[in-house]
Amino acid sequence: MKRDDIRQQLTALQAQDVPRHGGSTFAYVYDSGRPDIDALGLEALAMFGESNGLDPTAFPSLLAMERDLVAMAAELLNAPDGFAGTVTSGGTESILLAVQTARDARSDVDRPSMVLPSTAHAAFHKAAHYFGVRAVVVPVDPHTHRADVTAMTAAIEQSTVLVVGSAPSYAHGVIDPISALAAAAAERGVRFHVDACIGGWVLPFLDGVRPWDFSVAGVTSVSVDLHKYAYAPKGVSVLLHRNRTLRQPQFFACADWPGYTMLNSTTQSTRSGGPLAAAWAVTRAHGVDGYAELAKRARAATTRFVDGLPQPLEAVASPESTLVAVRSTDPLVDILVVVDEMQQRGQYVQVQLPFGGDPATMHLSMSAASDQVIEEVLAALVESIDAARDVGPSVVDPALAGAAGALDPATLTDDDFDGLLQIAGLADESGSLALPQRMAPVNALLAIASPALRERLLVAFLDRLTS
Ligand SMILES: *Cc1c(COP(=O)(O)O)cnc(C)c1O
Repeated sequence: MKRDDIRQQLTALQAQDVPRHGGSTFAYVYDSGRPDIDALGLEALAMFGESNGLDPTAFPSLLAMERDLVAMAAELLNAPDGFAGTVTSGGTESILLAVQTARDARSDVDRPSMVLPSTAHAAFHKAAHYFGVRAVVVPVDPHTHRADVTAMTAAIEQSTVLVVGSAPSYAHGVIDPISALAAAAAERGVRFHVDACIGGWVLPFLDGVRPWDFSVAGVTSVSVDLHKYAYAPKGVSVLLHRNRTLRQPQFFACADWPGYTMLNSTTQSTRSGGPLAAAWAVTRAHGVDGYAELAKRARAATTRFVDGLPQPLEAVASPESTLVAVRSTDPLVDILVVVDEMQQRGQYVQVQLPFGGDPATMHLSMSAASDQVIEEVLAALVESIDAARDVGPSVVDPALAGAAGALDPATLTDDDFDGLLQIAGLADESGSLALPQRMAPVNALLAIASPALRERLLVAFLDRLTS
């Protein structure tokens, strides 16, 4: 292909995606509203995209930048002298490594487990699945949506290698009682991880936040994503441990083959220097004062949004950082329909399906750039509510609902899934995938399915999407 045609096609492909800038995409991307610094980050991304973090002696540049990023994170998160940290590819990898490290530090435990609040990020369930660590899930307080200290403490067993809290939780944007949880874990000699993937670069700059970082005794590790509120391009997060001894089992060396001795600090071996260099450039450009300003803007956007929420919508919990979950208090205004209507008005909000007795919600992660569009967002919300009233709630055919309720996902065959994908509106009669404009009917069906069935159905969908 000719270079110009390639560029044209790339541009055309990208036009299908949600906007990465403008502040109206409330999940997936984070916009600082500083295109000059974004450009600098992308310059660094390109400059180091061919460099390989596999061997820090061959690429000392990457080692130097990694040390700088870890040091900046350590300072923001009040890590004590002797801390140790690693730059990873994202929040999930930071969490996977925190769980794997906690597991491997405990050779005395045969069948390791970890205690999670029910709001812990799905990445912990992935870690449980990958590493054979049983997840003991403890329901959060139904009113505050924060982890229940008494119940979490009671759930700690001989086999517990890790206890987890979020600062804040993705789904509700509230901070778990980190001090009490960490104390309970420490008293029993168990590690405690704070998942600050989304809050770690915001909370240090807000006033009146309860202690949640390394200033809390008993916190042994913290994860913070730079590709969220550090506004770096995708592929970069930091995992910090209180000391080097705690980090030790994270490292992997293999000399048991005839090639180079493999020596890794993360799950990746060859790893691009691009995201690391981009994060280095972007964090230096914004600086701590810049981030303080950006955090205040994202926080202001959040507060203005919640204060302006039109009836019959309300925030599920009062946001403690920059995330909001919104529910409808009127059964005639279906939040799943509101989400569709918002998207049609260029406001990309995210569906959170009903869970554990709580209704479906609409999620928004506010960027600094969102502050300038809050009036528009609220206006779109008023229109979307009216439209949702007109459209009416998504109803699932009762016969279908009954059938879906009776399904055992474990025994379903591939053919069953083809049928189900059609019923769910995710495929047409020929079996080829069809994503409808309106997702509410699909989400309504997923909403009545059990979490296990949702998982199987969506995996079947992804399987076909990628075939
Ligand atoms: C985003 C997020 C993660 C997962 O991070 P990825 O970068 O998407 O892998 C984990 N925990 C929380 C609280 C998050 O917001």
